[in-house]
Amino acid sequence: MCSYRHEQFTVHQLPALRDNYIYLIESGDALACVDPAEDAPVNRACKKLARGLTHILNTHHHWDHTDANLALKARHGCEIVGFAGDAERIPGLDRGVGEGEVVALGDIGVRVMVTPGHTRGHVCYLIDDALFCGDTLFGAGCGRLFEGTPEMMWNSLEKLMRLPEETRIYCAHEYTVNNLEFCMARVSDDERIRSRLERARKLRECGEPTVPFTMGEEMRTNPMLLPADSKFRRRFAATHGLPPDPLSVFTHIRRMRDAW
Ligand SMILES: [Zn+2]
Repeated sequence: MCSYRHEQFTVHQLPALRDNYIYLIESGDALACVDPAEDAPVNRACKKLARGLTHILNTHHHWDHTDANLALKARHGCEIVGFAGDAERIPGLDRGVGEGEVVALGDIGVRVMVTPGHTRGHVCYLIDDALFCGDTLFGAGCGRLFEGTPEMMWNSLEKLMRLPEETRIYCAHEYTVNNLEFCMARVSDDERIRSRLERARKLRECGEPTVPFTMGEEMRTNPMLLPADSKFRRRFAATHGLPPDPLSVFTHIRRMRDAW
């Protein structure tokens, strides 16, 4: 279990399933779990921290983010928070939330950002300088468009890009190396991307996570965010015969990634 200290809270990162991350957020008397894919690692961590869960925060309805909802609720009596519009699809949902709503967690507030694209009801949770973004943004990638349109996802990514560069991003999967390999092969082999891939491979060889990372690093090396950079966008659009607007370029790169 890796732990990361923020000013008013601590984040514990629990690897789960094949490549998922579950997060525990410890603040005052509250202990929240983001996207419990499995209950065993969460219960082990609770035992180690000598406390029970008070909240579950679901980013979206997929089974690998909600499968342990009911077992954990039965054991800890915690409150389950998720997108109000997905009440039918999130097991045991107690509190449906929407854009801009703030959930109190001990001494801190968790702000809800609605970011459709991967699913129609995907949300991210922002606490100060920490973003829990589920399957919207990954290290050097973004979620597949299972329910939303490219336009929905691009608007969601633009919303996240407005966060400060130092925001730490806690995403739900360890996909960084594979995403950077795609970027190098098909989108850009910029020196910054090359050196990030080298660092990410070294971390993985030692069994270390590449997550969290910062928003600033993503802005510079994530092929799904590069369409926001006008220089990159003009060059890429010209090479691929695309209109030079961000949405057309993003849509093309997302499709290339799906086929890679
Ligand atoms: Zn998902």
